[in-house]
Amino acid sequence: MAAFESLSNRLQNVFSKLKGKGKVSEADVNDAMREVRLALLEADVNFKVVKDFIAKVKEKAIGLDVSKSFTPGMVIIDIVNKELTELMGGTQVKLVKANKPPTVIMMVGLQGAGKTTTSGKLAKLLQKGNHKPLLVACDIYRPAAIKQLQVLGEQIGAPVFSLGDKTSPVDIAKAGLQHAKDNGNDYVIFDTAGRLHIDEELMDELKRIHEHVTPDEVLLVVDAMTGQDAVNVAQSFHEQLELSGVVLTKLDGDTRGGAALSVKAVTGCPIKFAAMGEKIDSLEPFHPERMASRILG
Ligand code: GDP
Repeated sequence: MAAFESLSNRLQNVFSKLKGKGKVSEADVNDAMREVRLALLEADVNFKVVKDFIAKVKEKAIGLDVSKSFTPGMVIIDIVNKELTELMGGTQVKLVKANKPPTVIMMVGLQGAGKTTTSGKLAKLLQKGNHKPLLVACDIYRPAAIKQLQVLGEQIGAPVFSLGDKTSPVDIAKAGLQHAKDNGNDYVIFDTAGRLHIDEELMDELKRIHEHVTPDEVLLVVDAMTGQDAVNVAQSFHEQLELSGVVLTKLDGDTRGGAALSVKAVTGCPIKFAAMGEKIDSLEPFHPERMASRILG
C-alpha cells in the first residue's frame, strides 16, 4: 500500500535493528523509541498523540522486562502493534442500525473530501449486504454534484432522490426520507454540501438537516492526504454536529498516515470506513488491527 510507506519503512528499520540483538538494554529500548517518535512525527501524527503513545509503549516494555526476554525485539514489536491498534480504535466499529428502518446516514465534510463518491460506494457496500439504500442529493451548491450522484446511482442500480437545485436542502432531505419510507428503502444516505472551509452558514444548514432527519449515523468524510488538517476538520465538525464516525478517503495515495493515526485519539470518533481508490468498490470497513499490521509490515 502506498499510504504509510515511509512510516512503515522507518518502523521496520527500527525493529530489524532490535530483532538482530540477542539482548536488549534499556538504552536500546530508549533509542528505538526515540526513532519511533520521530517516525510518527514525520508521518504528521498529532504531537500529543505521539507523546502518549511513546509513554505507553515504554511503560509496557519496562513492565514486561524485555531485557530478560529471549526475543526482545519481537516483544517490543508486539507491544507497538497492540498500541497502534488501540490508537486507531482497537476493534472495528460497525455502522449503527436503526431499530425501525430506514437507517438514516448523513454524509458531511469539506468539498473535495470525497463525500459524493463515498456515498455511492457506501450504497454499493450496503447492497452487497442485501440492503436497499436510497441516495438523496442534498448538495445543491456544487455544480454537477447532483448529476454525479445520479451517475453513481445508475452505475450500481441504486435509486437517487433529487429535487434539483432550486429546493432547499432541508426540504429535499425531508422529502427524501419520506420517499425512502414509502418505497421500502432500509437505508437512506444523504449527500450534503461541503465548502472549501468550515463556515457558519454550512454548519447551520447541516444542523437543520440533522434536526429534520435525526440521523442514526453522521459520517464525516475526510481526505487522509491532508494529515493534521483532516484531524482539525474532524474536531470542528464533531464539536458542532456530534459525529458518529469518520470515513478516511484517498488512503491509496501517498498519505503519510497522520490522519489515520490521530483522528480517533484526538476526537474520540471511530474510523468506520477507509476508501482506497476512485473505483466504486474501493470502500472497506476500517479494521484497526489490520491497519496496524499493514503499517508494521
Ligand atoms: P465531494 O466534494 O466531497 O463530494 O468530493 P467527490 O466525491 O466529488 O470527490 C472528489 C475527488 O476525489 C473525485 O475526483 C473523486 O474521484 C476523488 N476520490 C474520492 N475518494 C477517493 C479515494 O479514496 N481515492 C482516490 N484516489 N480518489 C478519491
